[in-house]
Amino acid sequence: MDGLIAALREVLEPEQIITDRQELRTYECDGLAQYKVTPGLVVFPHSTNECAAIVKACAQRGIPFVARGSGTGLSGGALPHADGILIVTSQMRSILRLSIADERVVAQPGVINLDITKAVRQQGYHYAPDPSSQQICSIGGNVAENSGGAHCLKYGFTTNHVTGLEIVTPEGEIVELGGEALDPPGYDLIGAFVGSEGTLGIATTVTVRLTRTPEAVRTVLAAFHTTDDAGSATSAIIAAGVIPAAIEMMYALAIEAAEAAVHCGYPEKAGAVLIVELDGDESTVDSSYAEVEKLLRADGAFEIRLAADEAERALIWKGRKSAFAAVGRISPDYLVQDGVIPRTALPQVLRRIAELSEEHGVRVANVFHAGDGNLHPLVLFDSAQEGAAERAATVSGAILDLCVEHGGSITGEHGVGVDKSAYLPRMFTGDDLDTMQLLRCAFDPGGIANPGKVFPTPRMCGEARRR
Ligand SMILES: Cc1cc2nc3c(=O)[nH]c(=O)nc-3n(C[C@H](O)[C@H](O)[C@H](O)COP(=O)(O)OP(=O)(O)OC[C@H]3O[C@@H](n4cnc5c(N)ncnc54)[C@H](O)[C@@H]3O)c2cc1C
Repeated sequence: MDGLIAALREVLEPEQIITDRQELRTYECDGLAQYKVTPGLVVFPHSTNECAAIVKACAQRGIPFVARGSGTGLSGGALPHADGILIVTSQMRSILRLSIADERVVAQPGVINLDITKAVRQQGYHYAPDPSSQQICSIGGNVAENSGGAHCLKYGFTTNHVTGLEIVTPEGEIVELGGEALDPPGYDLIGAFVGSEGTLGIATTVTVRLTRTPEAVRTVLAAFHTTDDAGSATSAIIAAGVIPAAIEMMYALAIEAAEAAVHCGYPEKAGAVLIVELDGDESTVDSSYAEVEKLLRADGAFEIRLAADEAERALIWKGRKSAFAAVGRISPDYLVQDGVIPRTALPQVLRRIAELSEEHGVRVANVFHAGDGNLHPLVLFDSAQEGAAERAATVSGAILDLCVEHGGSITGEHGVGVDKSAYLPRMFTGDDLDTMQLLRCAFDPGGIANPGKVFPTPRMCGEARRR
């Protein structure tokens, strides 16, 4: 590490390097605070060339590196290595090119997701993928996690909006993938890089597609007595051929938490609420709304509120977007889960989650992207009570098993990181995992880019194959 620090002092200013133990501890975890490791060193590059010099210096010494954007990840993807270096992109926050005519923005990786929309809003455009953390998470982190958000039901995930990347490979080379045009020839390496959770290198610029802001938006809040009814209304809406921009669901416990935190005024005594947002041109939105209202009522909605103006719409979304953090109001500790199921399995799976909660005496709040079948059960516990954390972990694991049993996945958008690497064999065979390693090793033969994440270890280049 001393040799690395000396080499980095040649290319970086003193204030771009943190070596002080207390300051290093600021970076010991991401949004998943159960895991903590103090990094060996933290650096803040300003440019692609500085990133490449840092990574090259690591490669020459076989020192692992971990990229970090804003550190909001929920699977421990940016968890540092004690003997490694954390490369933080928070000082790479410039928008490098903005072309409305081409509907493209080229941004440095540390640019905050919402800042892209703010830069183009006046011209009638926005950047569509909208994680609930969009006010703080970075576009580089979004690329690494293939992040989603409420409006990804209609508009697609990050992978559908990235047309070009400049990356620094784990050997320190600068490589361009794609560009501003769509569909370049050759293998889809952007597809491989998006969602690779920092294991294939560092994205140093990101080219994204802009989306025209729709002419009209209708936001509806529908209250149901049971989660079963809300789940079946979700399936009924999609089956009717309506594709809302978003369908989000919140359980009673999550509503209680959001109410305590932001006073969003959701209907009282609701077992679940759905937020359905329709967008497009005025006439399509009007006819879709009439259809959706009918379907919501048919599935038992006992109150339906259509936002009358932007302020009411914002209040409906405030409850949903603040829900994760708000859960801290009703429980000292909680685990955020992230699993996916086919939409039609929603009623059965939600019922089984309620049974698991009952069987183990563990409360589960749920707030999720119902339209995508992307569940976010929040498993509540009090770490001060003996055995409570273990019971919560058991329920969390059982929920993931349930998702896999129903043909779903152990993660929808938060990634595998360090948290779920042990779960990967529940979805993939040893041969599948070995095949994925071939791709990883093609980018990172030295195994220094975010090692120990995503794949169950040991499973790195050059290691004996073991199941
Ligand atoms: C309250 C809250 C709500 C959230 N809501 C959502 C949601 O609705 N949808 C959703 O998808 N996620 C959500 N998240 C999770 C998180 O915000 C996203 O995963 C986000 O994309 C992480 O971005 P970040 O900049 O914080 O990345 P970090 O946490 O810093 O890093 C995440 C991963 O990306 C890698 N990485 C970071 N930058 C780069 C880079 N330039 N090149 C290569 N790899 C890199 C890291 O190594 C790590 O593996 C939420 C989180 C919170 C706290």
